[in-house]
Amino acid sequence: MQADARDYDAIVIGSGMTGGYAAKELTELGLRTLVLEAGRPIVPAEDYSEHRPVWEMPFRGRGDRQYVIKRQAMQRSSVSFDEGSHQFWTDDIDNPYTTPEGKPFQWFRARQVGGKSIIWGRQVYRWSDLDFEANAHEGIAVDWPIRYRDIGPWYDRVESFIGVSGKRERLAHLPDGPFQPPMPMNCVETHVADRIRSSFRGERLMTMGRVAVLTAPLNGRSACHYCGPCQRGCITRSYFSAVNATLPAAEATGRMTLRPFSIVRHLTVDPSSGKVSGVHVIDARTRVSHEFRARVVFLCASAIESARILLNSRTAQHPEGVANSSGQVGRNIMDHIKNAGANGRFDGWTDRRVVGDRPNGIYVPRFRNVSSRHADFVRGYAFQGSASRPGWQSRIQEPGIGVALKQKLTELGPWTMNLNGYGEMLPREENRCTVHPTMVDAWGIPVLHIECSWGANELAIQKDMAVTAAEMLEAAGAKQVQPHTNATTPGGANHEMGTARMGRDRRTSVLNGWNQAWDAPNLFVTDGACMTSSANQNPSLTYMALTARACHYAVEQLKRGNL
Ligand SMILES: Cc1cc2nc3c(=O)[nH]c(=O)nc-3n(C[C@H](O)[C@H](O)[C@H](O)COP(=O)(O)OP(=O)(O)OC[C@H]3O[C@@H](n4cnc5c(N)ncnc54)[C@H](O)[C@@H]3O)c2cc1C
Ligand code: SF4
Repeated sequence: MQADARDYDAIVIGSGMTGGYAAKELTELGLRTLVLEAGRPIVPAEDYSEHRPVWEMPFRGRGDRQYVIKRQAMQRSSVSFDEGSHQFWTDDIDNPYTTPEGKPFQWFRARQVGGKSIIWGRQVYRWSDLDFEANAHEGIAVDWPIRYRDIGPWYDRVESFIGVSGKRERLAHLPDGPFQPPMPMNCVETHVADRIRSSFRGERLMTMGRVAVLTAPLNGRSACHYCGPCQRGCITRSYFSAVNATLPAAEATGRMTLRPFSIVRHLTVDPSSGKVSGVHVIDARTRVSHEFRARVVFLCASAIESARILLNSRTAQHPEGVANSSGQVGRNIMDHIKNAGANGRFDGWTDRRVVGDRPNGIYVPRFRNVSSRHADFVRGYAFQGSASRPGWQSRIQEPGIGVALKQKLTELGPWTMNLNGYGEMLPREENRCTVHPTMVDAWGIPVLHIECSWGANELAIQKDMAVTAAEMLEAAGAKQVQPHTNATTPGGANHEMGTARMGRDRRTSVLNGWNQAWDAPNLFVTDGACMTSSANQNPSLTYMALTARACHYAVEQLKRGNL
């Protein structure tokens, strides 16, 4: 074991969406900050490939099937996984986990500087008190220790920095922010939006997706030029990622030390003060162990990895892991339920086509259980989707030969539109991860056993998504409307959260209202682990706002000598 003699004020574990944000805030507030990242560094000029056409790729964009089936069998099931992005996804062999027979869990991970912020879908929506008060109103799990007024200014701060384009809609349950101009809807989307507004008397509406992609330059980053495959990186830094924005901001302060290939194995705790006294790291390349120390530690390794670190930090004094006197670490895993909605065909507009590859779609905000109660379920869901005209891909199996076939393949098909639901998942203690008794990863660190399944409420939500999506498309005049509800695996929405929840009572929660561990006051957990419920909105904006808020609180407490 090598002890690092350097003196840091703060350690941030993980350099992805939340770790990058913590690094930016802590360094800008004057703290010498060590960022420990398990994966490799990213060099945009070498690693990004969004402008490389698939015909220049060795496997024409599909990837080396033999390699990915062997090493990335789970990760490759994501729609964002392709030959240009596969290097941004975790190696499943080096980083295994287990699930019970018949209860799969899709755990999508990204182990490199920037984490999943390089491959995310960039959709960003605020929560409201409809979400923060729901647990308390319905007597489910525990109450959030915060309300919208506590996080509102932090949403403003984060949105202004990351750059969010979107339309202000003045919805109380989906608050607006300081948006850049929205991306435009195409002709059919505009038509459907008008029809939904008039047919559902304002109860349902369709807006442009709120997305962390610039439509105007910001802080040296360029507006998006609609090239399309964002999951492969973005050399113009038009979409927000830690590599594109927060880590450069932290670097610019001169106070960040970024240490890639640094796998945090566990934390050590000072038995007298209860504070985290050290962060134990295994160097991914040399396998040498190191110990780092700082006055405050931010755990941002992503929800389930953070739970793993806490659960692996077992001592005689903390047999269940650090910060776990409540027994809640690893419990209440949530995701969003998806794979239900509808699609339909629109006749007309055949002189119009989509130009460019807009990295965004439309959004129908939640309308269930907003102003009236639904009989079959609590909470709600939103829709994402888009309208387009299929090209040659839809005729790939048509018979033919020569000029006639080629001519046919250049013609576009009719307009179609799809709506895909994302529904809230309720927290349940039995949805949990635990340390596997025998299995370890490639570095000898115990791995997780993850047990998670949908409850009746989620399945009722999923059923309703197909019905209301079809209703809206029919109201807009679509033909051949096809509702669909397909089986979906927990984790599949990429929004895993909730393994170290915030709460008002240390006996039933892991973190207080400032993301501070009840048991270890200099430990802050600000990734999705902290979530007390899941709402239905894509969650990363809320993680970043909570991270920024916790950083300012921690620095204030440090200045007062409280940590
Ligand atoms: C395909 C896809 C689409 C998505 N789309 C959206 C979307 O549209 N909107 C949205 O809100 N969210 C979306 N998400 C989810 C979003 O990416 C995550 O919510 C977000 O990245 C979580 O941030 P994080 O900081 O917790 O984790 P990450 O961004 O994953 O960062 C965690 C970092 O910690 C590092 N790490 C892990 N373990 C250790 C360890 N032991 N020691 C040191 N470092 C460690 C990892 O290598 C990684 O760099 C999407 C995700 C995927 C995969
Ligand atoms: S954000 Fe825009 S410019 Fe950047 S990769 Fe995506 S589509 Fe291309």
